[in-house]
Amino acid sequence: MIVAPLPWQAEAWAALAARFDAAKLPHALLLTGPAGIGKTRLAQVLAARMLCNDPSAGLACGRCKTCTVLAAGSHPDFMEVAPDDGSRVIKIDQVRELISFASKTPALGGHKLALIHPAEAMNLNAANALLKCLEEPSPSTTLVLVSHQPGGLPATVRSRCQAVALAPPGRQASLAWLQNACDGQEPAEQLLDVCEDRPLAALALYESGGLEQRLALLKGVDALLEGRLSPLDVPALGADLELVEILAVMQQVVQGRIRENVKSTSQQGGGARRDAFELWTELGRLQRSIASGANPNRQLIIEDCSARLARTLGIVGS
Ligand SMILES: [Zn+2]
Repeated sequence: MIVAPLPWQAEAWAALAARFDAAKLPHALLLTGPAGIGKTRLAQVLAARMLCNDPSAGLACGRCKTCTVLAAGSHPDFMEVAPDDGSRVIKIDQVRELISFASKTPALGGHKLALIHPAEAMNLNAANALLKCLEEPSPSTTLVLVSHQPGGLPATVRSRCQAVALAPPGRQASLAWLQNACDGQEPAEQLLDVCEDRPLAALALYESGGLEQRLALLKGVDALLEGRLSPLDVPALGADLELVEILAVMQQVVQGRIRENVKSTSQQGGGARRDAFELWTELGRLQRSIASGANPNRQLIIEDCSARLARTLGIVGS
């Protein structure tokens, strides 16, 4: 069971734990930061600590009755809300269950914790229903919203939560952890490169065996930018990847080019830079809308974004 924070979360955890010990935790927390750096895991560490009967050294003991039922997934004072299998959306019925959970008195101790992840997956009805919970908080319930894209949440929800921004760990910390998690078997450096130093994303990629596909897609995008590949050929490259993953790879390429361009001393290409920023923003917007349940035509989106990539970065790169 998860009781300890990840190595790079020590500081963030110490701050959260101190506020909990001082009974100064707000009723709603919003943990933000890139996907795959351990935000949900930190929320689980907090849940375990809050619910444990016999914490030691500031962490849940992992052995008491409440820790045991929490590990078994049957703790009545802990609720996890995430998209159901096969869905990308958190629906209003799930939030209604949460509201009912929040209205009850704790069954086993003094606290209850509800974890919503990723919070931007709530559709508008679900987010509106959650507002009621945020506006009239139950004193014994802490809500923890985890969000990779807090911009995808309604401002009314965001403003009623206290945000805690978590940064990705540095390369050294990521590498040490990932090498250990992969038993030193895999090219951890390469995994981290592809996943932009997001260690849990890198581990998920390792476990899914998706590294090859990602690398093939990146190679294909290079060929596209060099004019050796048509936008119409790109959809076939990432056949086993989720559309959001493909868009994220494209966004990563655009971001890399923008960085290179900013670093270069060239005074030219302001318009091209602006186009690159626009494309970067659009790719982010598309990922958020898919995360919130939009289901666009995969083939068309990939072709269209590929064509825009070729047009935009072809100019920036020259
Ligand atoms: Zn315990």
